[in-house]
Amino acid sequence: MNRIVLVGPPGAGKGTISELLKYDYNLPTISTGDILRKNVALATDLGKQAKAFMDKGELVSDHLILDLIADRLEEEDAQKGYLLDGFPRNVAQADALDEMLTKKGAKIDYVIYLNVPDEELIRRITSRRVCSVCGATYNTITKPTTKDGVCDVCGGDVIQRADDTEETVRNRIEVYNKETHPLVAYYQQKGILSEIAADAPLEEVYERTQAVLGVE
Ligand code: AMP
Repeated sequence: MNRIVLVGPPGAGKGTISELLKYDYNLPTISTGDILRKNVALATDLGKQAKAFMDKGELVSDHLILDLIADRLEEEDAQKGYLLDGFPRNVAQADALDEMLTKKGAKIDYVIYLNVPDEELIRRITSRRVCSVCGATYNTITKPTTKDGVCDVCGGDVIQRADDTEETVRNRIEVYNKETHPLVAYYQQKGILSEIAADAPLEEVYERTQAVLGVE
């Protein structure tokens, strides 16, 4: 069973690494950020409640996130394992996840901590772009689209996320350090955390991740 949590600051590469793992390990990626963004785009009740927090780079209330996760983990494709990207985001969420899993006789198998210094994060995130249609990720420095603003995969509009501007990024990093980083010690204590130096080219970071999980 592979229940994997990816922890790391915004811009550490959690989304990119989980996209690669998804194919190689045949596990669904569950990104609370992606689910929330879809809800914002569709203007659902959840989206309306989450938007103001997301725009400022603050965390959305735990109860909304925990409801969303409880439903998602019940889905068919999540029964053989999953990759959690962006959840849990604080110790209260981690405790709630633990409780949810214990009830089912399950547990998290691996926690991968992608460690990148703050200065590098700002550079990475402000150059990050994403396709508004299929979610493919780009970077104006390291992975530009072939045609400006047009997705190579689906032809959709490639945009900057509303919360990828420098001001919001600085706040998201602060929120990460205060709320989320304590999870590193939390999972270390449980003996399931592997730290990966993620300030390196993607191929190397991915190889280090595979070395932890075992190559499929
Ligand atoms: P992400 O794509 O993971 O960087 O998430 C984007 C934004 O969605 C965050 O800045 C938060 O506002 C919100 N968010 C995503 N996941 C969570 C979570 N587990 N708990 C609280 N807020 C979250």
